[in-house]
Amino acid sequence: MTHATVEPTPASATPDGGHLLELKDLHVEFRTNEGVAQVINGVSYHLDAGETLAVLGESGSGKSVTAQAIMGILDTPPAFVRSGQILYRGQDLLTASEEQRRQVRGKEIAMIFQDALSALNPVFPVGWQIGETLRQRSGMSRGDARRRAVELMDLVKIPGAAKRIGDYPHQFSGGMRQRVMIAMALALDPKVLIADEPTTALDVTVQAQIMDLLADLRRDLNMAMILITHDLGVVAGVADRIAVMYAGRIVEHADVRALYKAPAHPYTKGLLESIPRMDVRGQELSTIKGLPPNLMRIPSGCPFHPRCPYVQQVCVDVVPHDLVLGDGRTSACHFAQEVRDDSAR
Ligand code: SF4
Repeated sequence: MTHATVEPTPASATPDGGHLLELKDLHVEFRTNEGVAQVINGVSYHLDAGETLAVLGESGSGKSVTAQAIMGILDTPPAFVRSGQILYRGQDLLTASEEQRRQVRGKEIAMIFQDALSALNPVFPVGWQIGETLRQRSGMSRGDARRRAVELMDLVKIPGAAKRIGDYPHQFSGGMRQRVMIAMALALDPKVLIADEPTTALDVTVQAQIMDLLADLRRDLNMAMILITHDLGVVAGVADRIAVMYAGRIVEHADVRALYKAPAHPYTKGLLESIPRMDVRGQELSTIKGLPPNLMRIPSGCPFHPRCPYVQQVCVDVVPHDLVLGDGRTSACHFAQEVRDDSAR
């Protein structure tokens, strides 16, 4: 007689075998007295267990607003989700009940922010703040929560964690405060960590330490991570894929190595050419001319056309749709193939 074996369900599995987290055609607008700004214009991306997706773009590109929509912390008004889906294990968080959303946000999906000082409460010791999350959300006793808080501070490599548990946020350096915030985010053992510009406020050496820590934690805890950044320099070596955002759209979505080797969108190419490279001597750095558009008056056709060195009349007249290139990447450019070939030269 043979026995049927039951395979363990992978962490990324959903009832329909879909992605752990998936955004589908998300539209978010800001309704203000001056008019309506289309802040997110049809963003779609996905994330599977254990992988890191970097979402890259200039300030105002919509990358942080997308994350706030996932976490349900949009500032409403003025922000409203006009349409789309945010699926976590196949369940749409935009239409789920308040209780279902509460189970996912903070618990299954946690977020860390750029400014740890304003995210932490200045009048409570950090250990108490980490423990409070555990007491509120897991019903842990005071003693267990304290022990777990020390473990979490150890996990994020805060030296002398047991001694520092009673210290207040202002007694920590910027880098150590960021570690405290990461410990709080990890308290409920999330499956997805969203890191929104986690190193922007820190000096370069500390930035590298925090990025190394996040990469180690993601691997050791088998979390998936969305790394939101304006800095293409911090992405290499950490992310598996990159989604590049411009004016509320994803303009290029690619495997990290393919994108670094030969970007297929002029905006990505411009961003890469503005990063200093250690291996090129006497390199002239270029900058992308002009400014990102006013989201109340997005240019016709391709929103990047006023700044694009490859612009043609078709770019002014026709919105480019995602072009799927041979290596699985997409680029929202009428001339994606030419741009990629040009980049590879
Ligand atoms: Fe530039 Fe045209 Fe491509 Fe837009 S569609 S990025 S304007 S070449």
